[in-house]
Amino acid sequence: MIAILTNSIVKAIQQVVGNAPVPLHEPRFAGHEWDYLKECLDSTFVSSVGKFVDRFEAELADYTGASHAVAVVNGTAALHVALCLAGVQSNDEVLIPALTFVATANAVAYCGAVPHLVDSEMHTLGLDPLALRDYLKDITEISEGQCINCLTNRVIRVLLPMHTFGHPVDLEGLLSVARDFHLTLIEDAAESLGSWYHDKHTGTFGRMGTLSFNGNKTITTGGGGAILTNDAELAQHAKHLTTTAKRPHRWEYVHDEVGYNYRMPNLNAALGCAQLEQLPSFLASKRRLFEQYQAAFKDIPDVQIVTEPNGCRSNYWLQTLMLDESVAGHRDDILTATNEAGLMTRPIWKLMHRLAPYQDCPRMELYVAEQLEQRLLNLPSSTGLI
Ligand SMILES: *Cc1c(COP(=O)(O)O)cnc(C)c1O
Repeated sequence: MIAILTNSIVKAIQQVVGNAPVPLHEPRFAGHEWDYLKECLDSTFVSSVGKFVDRFEAELADYTGASHAVAVVNGTAALHVALCLAGVQSNDEVLIPALTFVATANAVAYCGAVPHLVDSEMHTLGLDPLALRDYLKDITEISEGQCINCLTNRVIRVLLPMHTFGHPVDLEGLLSVARDFHLTLIEDAAESLGSWYHDKHTGTFGRMGTLSFNGNKTITTGGGGAILTNDAELAQHAKHLTTTAKRPHRWEYVHDEVGYNYRMPNLNAALGCAQLEQLPSFLASKRRLFEQYQAAFKDIPDVQIVTEPNGCRSNYWLQTLMLDESVAGHRDDILTATNEAGLMTRPIWKLMHRLAPYQDCPRMELYVAEQLEQRLLNLPSSTGLI
């Protein structure tokens, strides 16, 4: 029985992407990358200042509709600084999905704060606002405008959802929870450049949102990230903190707080400008790939291709196969068969509390996240595959 299933899954993927070894997600450089990089080298401005950084920030703000974008070295650094700017202090708690890439939890830990793990929804793969609201009602009280976890006596400062594989979370629901429980909303939009919740870009709903331009993301700067915000003062502070907190002066080295060397080099920003020009065509390619996978898997029982939530437009960064509960136990057989056929597939991440550094983190019941952990795997998803 299971051989029939794994066989038809391998066939369906091959039908879409062909037979050759196919990676999970390769970057694509089909635009002005060489030109802009050469311009960068010729100008000698390869490092921390240069026109491509300003241009990349302006174009990111323009594309996402955020008032400001601050480019940084990677998505994890963007999260770290956003949490600092939201006032997260040592021994605070930050609500994050149990089902996320480890960077979300790491950024919280860098602040000396504690990740508090929240369950997901089946159809968005992201935080469940209704379950979270019920849970917070049970375990928290509001005191002097702060949300206190009565079980740990710590302040819960921030609500940090993540848009899994580019599929937007229920932002309306989460904004309402944040309002009612006095939490600052920050979005980990590392995976969702080009994803829209109704008519607004993900990462622009919260007080801040963060992006990643790592090599495996929808567009890449080699390594890179950005902080989005609509608040001019916050944007300015983000720039300051990520550039060693140096006060402008003609020659003196005056640093007025503990800053970070998190700025994005001009070389990386040059790559980013070239990549951003191609984003619309990348997104069209990803949507075509989704449609072809959906058609190829239509008649295979017990599995389906994950689709964007209602009212949302996903970037379809990574294509995702959801196994029915009845075959979830065979996930590893499917991983083995596809990878042996040269088709790179990967399981979704392990839940955060299964990782040694986060095993003792506070958490709610993770009914749905535990299901998703067993039932999701990513298919070859490179831009331009078809
Ligand atoms: C990629 C990613 C990040 C941060 O990525 P960097 O590799 O540091 O740029 C953060 N959160 C999630 C969910 C991610 O997928």
